[in-house]
Amino acid sequence: MMNEFELIQNYFNWEHNEPSIELAVGDDAALFNLLPGHQLVTSTDTLVEGVHFFKDASPSDIAYKSLAVNLSDIAAMGASAKCFTLSLTIPKLDHEWLEKFSSSLKESSRLFNVHLIGGDTTKGPLNITITMMGSIEIDSAIKRSGAKDGDDIYVSGDLGTAALCLKKIIDGESPNLNELEKLHRPVPQLELGSALKHVASSCIDISDGLEQDLSHILKASDVGASIDVLKLPLDESVTEYVKNTSDWSLPLCGGDDYELCFTANKSNRDQIRLLSENLKTKVTKIGEINSSKELKINGYDGHSSSYQHF
Ligand code: ADP
Ligand code: MG
Repeated sequence: MMNEFELIQNYFNWEHNEPSIELAVGDDAALFNLLPGHQLVTSTDTLVEGVHFFKDASPSDIAYKSLAVNLSDIAAMGASAKCFTLSLTIPKLDHEWLEKFSSSLKESSRLFNVHLIGGDTTKGPLNITITMMGSIEIDSAIKRSGAKDGDDIYVSGDLGTAALCLKKIIDGESPNLNELEKLHRPVPQLELGSALKHVASSCIDISDGLEQDLSHILKASDVGASIDVLKLPLDESVTEYVKNTSDWSLPLCGGDDYELCFTANKSNRDQIRLLSENLKTKVTKIGEINSSKELKINGYDGHSSSYQHF
């Protein structure tokens, strides 16, 4: 029988080839160096079985998504991610599960060039908490509080695909591959976030639905906004869904997109078009900030149904 220390050694202690990390897994705490003139940027997200993923979800998808949702928060600040800790609570010592989880986590962390430097391992209902750490030049982070009257409002990618996928699974329908990919393998917009430093006035990642997440920007910035449902970027299946049901709440309030919503001064339009072209990342203007302190969604009279835990 493997003990806790062997478990950590077997599944979560990898070689690092990163000179800024002085101590990783194995000591009482980890140590890494920040570049001079930089700030530490840190964010934590927990994924709970039955809340964030289904009971029988694949361990590879769970590992990928735990990392991706945390990277998405770092992306929304315009920062670069560097290392992370993993607090893992598992109901039992299931080697097959751990093997798949850890190899996917290792592969995903290589993909995004981030390093596992520590964590904690306990027994209990399945729960994965990752704390992501990154850095950014001092005074460069894109906060929620910078939106100004007259700014344009943009979103990256398409909205509602992950929510449509989830809805299809719950309704017993079969989502297509693209929909499954959006739900299980969201791509954090790290390059876009970084390119928006000193360009965007505010930014947030859309994890709980555009309506709710844009409202966070409005509240933090003490402004209002007017957006237009007909301007929302939708892929083919969500376009079809909205055409058939007139249900705009799916792209407006559905969660799990992990796209960025940001605001920028009108004078930055050309720059934003250019950076979107260079990064081959779709960016769509969906409305404008105003001084009303309310969110007006033209073409939508439904109620807010964005995700809330309580
Ligand atoms: P402590 O008793 O000091 O909290 P632990 O036994 O919890 O130490 O952890 C020993 C080492 O293993 C520490 O460096 C810790 O960061 C690391 N660690 C524990 N669990 C994990 C995990 N799931 N993933 C990565 N590192 C872990
Ligand atoms: Mg511990």
